[in-house]
Amino acid sequence: MSEKTLKFNSKTVHGGQQPDKAYGAVMPPIYQTSTYAQSTPGGHQGFEYSRSANPTRTALENSLASIENGNYGLAFGSGLAAIDAVIKLLNPGDEVVSTNDIYGGSYRLFKQIFEKFGIGFHFIGMQEAGEIEKHINRNTKLIWVETPTNPMMNVIDVKAVSQLSKKYDLLLAVDNTFATPYLQTPLDLGADIVMHSATKYLGGHSDVVLGALVVKDKDLADKLYFIQNASGAVCGPMDSFLVLRGIKTLHVRMQRHCENGKAVADYLSKHPKIEKVYWPGFETHPNHAIAKSQMNDFGGMISFVPKGSNYEEAIKIVEKLDLFILAESLGGVESLAGHPASMTHASIPKNEREKNGVVDSLIRLSVGIEDASDLIADLEQAIG
Ligand SMILES: *Cc1c(COP(=O)(O)O)cnc(C)c1O
Repeated sequence: MSEKTLKFNSKTVHGGQQPDKAYGAVMPPIYQTSTYAQSTPGGHQGFEYSRSANPTRTALENSLASIENGNYGLAFGSGLAAIDAVIKLLNPGDEVVSTNDIYGGSYRLFKQIFEKFGIGFHFIGMQEAGEIEKHINRNTKLIWVETPTNPMMNVIDVKAVSQLSKKYDLLLAVDNTFATPYLQTPLDLGADIVMHSATKYLGGHSDVVLGALVVKDKDLADKLYFIQNASGAVCGPMDSFLVLRGIKTLHVRMQRHCENGKAVADYLSKHPKIEKVYWPGFETHPNHAIAKSQMNDFGGMISFVPKGSNYEEAIKIVEKLDLFILAESLGGVESLAGHPASMTHASIPKNEREKNGVVDSLIRLSVGIEDASDLIADLEQAIG
């Protein structure tokens, strides 16, 4: 069967994979080696040094390309290392238009590392694609999109943004960490680069830190591969293996994340002590129509604001939660709760944060795959 015709639920299991050539191992072995024997200088079997390529990493990279409907996958030591490689495509003087409500670490990388090398960033709300055009000038080279956004769960119309990126001959990169290819495949919507923190849903078990890029275009893949090898922020074979294993159950886990996400969002929206719930599945969500057309379901990421609450009270609630573990990160089988103002988004100045709605009392949930009634009971006892 041609791999390209496989449905998503089969690609997660089989995409880019063949039994290992040496002994027929069904699961790609962990090739824990830095180097490879050569018969004569240059006489090797496609692998010469594990920064350049490693068979376990290659197996993961092929799987990533398959599930994102791309042609080339590249795996890195972390999500931020993957983003770092994308920005290194640019030169001093170039500018990037980025979603304003993004992962705090992406913001920090852009502002505190790349600005000092002369790359400019504009952070803007992208719910109206027309806004973007106002910030495009002759130095603009890249549009950086995160959707749904973190932690406000805004949804950005990737197809509409890609029409702009094509009109102005820009690259469009989409951070697909929150949605995963189970919910949306940005390359099919016109993006040039898909980026993942595979630390989250792709790995799915909170046991590994890893990043990924997927592209369709060979030239772009070659440029990114050059950066991956030249800068060297690759992931190791053990970590590649763990993410490959995670991807094989991605579709099954995501189905449950979405079901539980809906149950928890519905519960919170009816709770008298909750002021606001941010989840793209609500018909009242301002971007619900785009979410419905662009995504296959609405995911398990939810943010909410308790009524009349402040910094201290929000912290009390996340401390009281028991089944929801208070921790950074998201996308694992276990439910996590976070307080963006003091945790994931502490690196964004308070006034910048609050402009985007990340107030001191905002709480973010990554709803896991436990029984939904246990999760709701836990929220009930914490919210009171
Ligand atoms: C976690 C995260 C990142 C950064 O990935 P790391 O693997 O932690 O380096 C980037 N974007 C989003 C949306 C994330 O959640």
